[in-house]
This record gives sequence, structure tokens and C-alpha cells, in this order.
Amino acid sequence: MNVSESLENIRSAIPKSVRLIAVSKTKSVETIMEAYDAGQKVFGENKVQELASKKDLLPEDIEWHYIGHLQTNKVKYLAPFVDMIHAVDSMKLLKEINKQALKNSRTVNCLLQIHIAEEDSKFGLSEGELFSILESEDLNELRNINIKGLMGMATLTYNDEQIRKEFRYLKGLFEKVQSRYSTILPGFTEISMGMSGDYEIAIEEGSTMVRIGSSIFGARH
Ligand SMILES: *Cc1c(COP(=O)(O)O)cnc(C)c1O
Repeated sequence: MNVSESLENIRSAIPKSVRLIAVSKTKSVETIMEAYDAGQKVFGENKVQELASKKDLLPEDIEWHYIGHLQTNKVKYLAPFVDMIHAVDSMKLLKEINKQALKNSRTVNCLLQIHIAEEDSKFGLSEGELFSILESEDLNELRNINIKGLMGMATLTYNDEQIRKEFRYLKGLFEKVQSRYSTILPGFTEISMGMSGDYEIAIEEGSTMVRIGSSIFGARH
């Protein structure tokens, strides 16, 4: 299957209300253009350097999502153009994103990454850390970021029930934040969960954004 056929398959498998982020990490500009020509305008990358260099070679109307772990010293390279940062996991990072967005007279959409997997290796906030960010006085001053929701990555396992449990937990946490913080977070509407191996479960559990790479572009080497 070529890229446009795979894309068509994925599109027909997900409801219209769920946004598809095509994860193009490691893929060439030519391959990304195949997806673009097939109508895909939203792409995700997980390395700052790679994204910054690809971006200049691709159409301006692409909406870029940064989905990787982000170091504060690299925020400045993304701030001029990035639409959404999916894996924000500290107040320090939020402040830096705000600072760099302000410098560029922009607002950057952010998702807070929650640790939902069993593995220690995956990044993300605990529930306690999430609420301490949301309770922080400093948050009100960050006017150039827009906290749009939560993001999570499930355990890499064939155990679907485990994956479902993790996504369900994330959805529950999302609802808790929505109900408690609706006044300070009016745009809190997104749950970024689901990848090639688990997006069907994620959608059943309430995902609003899926991040899909290999099922569109083929395996990465
Ligand atoms: C690579 C990556 C994806 C996409 O993974 P696939 O299994 O190729 O769909 C999604 N989210 C994040 C954070 C990633 O790094």
C-alpha cells in the first residue's frame, strides 16, 4: 500500500470528530508530500532539529505538532511556527514556551503529558504534579500559551485490557480537570491518545486526537 492508500484506510477507520496527526518522524520530505497531496495537513514530529529543517522545505499551510520530549533550551526553535506541543511535563517548560511564544507574538497550544503507562521509561506528570501545575498562581500570567488538554502514551503491550485501562484513566483525569478548572481553562477540550497499535481502543475511550505514524508511512528503520 502506498501512503495515500494507507491514509485513506486510517481516515475511514476514525470518526470525523477525531483529528489525525500524521507522525512523519524519520520520513523524507518527499514522503511527507505524498501525504500532503492526499489532503493531510497536520503532521507530528518528535525531534526539534529534524522538524525545523523539514519545515522549511514543505508547504507553509502545514500545521506542525511537536510530540516528543522537549528540552527548555530548544523551545525557541519551535516557537515561531509550531501549532501544538503535545508533551509538556513541567511548569518550567510551560514558562519557557510562554516566553518564546510572546517573543514571536504568538500563542502556542499545549497539552500536558500524563504518565499513564506501567513502564518507568515514559515521560509525563503524575496526577499530583498535574494538579500542582493547575493550582499554581503563575499559570494565570502565562498569556501566550493555551492549555488545550492532556496527552498520554499507553504501555507497549499486546494486552488490550491494560491499554484500555490506561486510556480510561486519562479520560477520567481529563474530565476531572474540565469540571474543576473550566473557568481558568475554557479551551480544555483535547485528549491526545492513540498510535498505530492502539488508536482503535483510544477512540473507544474518548480520544480526540490520534498520533499515527507507521500505519500511514510504513515501519521506521
Ligand atoms: C512515534 C510516535 C507516535 C507514532 O507511532 P506509530 O506507532 O508509528 O503510530 C505517536 N506518538 C508519539 C509520541 C511518538 O513518538
